Amino acid sequence: MGSPATTAVHARFVLGFDGGDHVLLEDASVIYGGSVLEYVGPRRDVVADRVVELGEALVIPGLIDLDAVADIDHALLDSWASARSAPGLQWSEDYFGSRRTDVFDQEERTFIRRYALAQLLLHGITTCLPIASEVHSAWAETYDDAIGLAESARELGIRAYVGPSYRSGVNVSRADGTRDVLWNHDLGRAGLDDAARFLATVGNTPDGLVRGALVPCRIETMSFELLESTAQLAREYDVPVRLHCMQSELELELLRRWYDETPLELLDRSGLLGCRLLVPHATYGSSDRDRRSPSDDELAALARAGVSVVHCPSTSLRYGMVLDTFDRFTAAGVTVTLGSDSFPPDLLRAMDEGSCLAKVLERRLDAGDLATYFRAGTLHAASALGRDDLGRLEPGAQADFVALRLDDFRLGVVDDPLRTVVMSGSSRDLALSVIAGRTVVENGRLPGADLPAMKARAQSLFARMRAAYSSRDASRRGADALFPPVFPRIRHAAAGRSSTARQVHHELGE
Ligand SMILES: [Zn+2]
Repeated sequence: MGSPATTAVHARFVLGFDGGDHVLLEDASVIYGGSVLEYVGPRRDVVADRVVELGEALVIPGLIDLDAVADIDHALLDSWASARSAPGLQWSEDYFGSRRTDVFDQEERTFIRRYALAQLLLHGITTCLPIASEVHSAWAETYDDAIGLAESARELGIRAYVGPSYRSGVNVSRADGTRDVLWNHDLGRAGLDDAARFLATVGNTPDGLVRGALVPCRIETMSFELLESTAQLAREYDVPVRLHCMQSELELELLRRWYDETPLELLDRSGLLGCRLLVPHATYGSSDRDRRSPSDDELAALARAGVSVVHCPSTSLRYGMVLDTFDRFTAAGVTVTLGSDSFPPDLLRAMDEGSCLAKVLERRLDAGDLATYFRAGTLHAASALGRDDLGRLEPGAQADFVALRLDDFRLGVVDDPLRTVVMSGSSRDLALSVIAGRTVVENGRLPGADLPAMKARAQSLFARMRAAYSSRDASRRGADALFPPVFPRIRHAAAGRSSTARQVHHELGE
């Protein structure tokens, strides 16, 4: 076998790495052979097997999404619920008791995850730790969900940390409108066994693209036994654990009621604080600040334990929550990383939204600075995974990078290229994505994927998912009552030609 083919990519700007931090290089090159970067620096016209001239573009390290949406969108439905409709979006008691079911079969579940991976790739994500909603599952994820996800990741070429989610309890709305968690410990243990089986069989693959992770559901849906076993497995396999906690008032109240503990005390007692722990959101703590964000002591404890917070600015905003504040967390030494968590999985947009939120909360314009936000989605996310070969462009690192177009008229004028794409562009300015040396997105397209067919299928599955909320709602309201249109929807009677177009339009919108 000869040496791997060499590719040279030239662009107006490349965000390289000087050993300590990102640095912006103008008129620069990225050269790689196989899956590893060989050269990143001033333009070098070498003899290569393939030369890519990107022109007016910015090459950055591939983005790392640690709460990566792996599902059909549900924020479109549940992020604007009213006090009346909200209970209908949870499982009811009797749905839990006798009617819980999978809305999708295994093949459809695998398709949905593949569809989401395609979305991530087309938004410049090169490494993901996926998350799918359990609301339309009979319980949580299955072993086959994880296998399917791993296979799709390998096929599409995205780097993924994978495991099936599991839980021993489910958040429900009781008939009287109160919230609670109902339990089934046998299903919890079976889910943990599947997670262990997945780590044992799939763990590491020859191409290294797919690795194992432990992804239990929210902390308040986990028995103490399951939390302890998760910590043991994490140590045994040396894999990251992602556990949603410090996420809601309800969670804090339930943990207080059951254990008389805070989430951090429970993490400590279960052994999870000693693991490679990633905590999405961390928007609630025991602080007496107005917003009940984590206290200074809690931030210090997170930092001491090396916990990484997965900050999902776009999703938090949509659900009316904030990280209070990004600057407080980073100043306390907490590793803050980024997640999309819902559609669209656009981490550049998330950086912009997070930065704006930090400005509001800190009441100064230099809060939530872009350099720190960008490190969150690259260097800090890589270190949360224990990977010093990701999130940076330097020789020896993985050839994981994306290029963003700077020549679109709609982008306006360009100042600092990174600030310009974050403020005036989005991840959809993606021109090229390379992961482990393989070109996975070219000219903004996913080679080999039939996107129109995937979109049509996702739309029809979404219709079924939307309709299924009705059977979980305690008062069995129809989907149209739970999700009323923004404005009343006029349905035209079938008539002459002129109304047909309108009618078709409305049917498409179903
Ligand atoms: Zn989340």
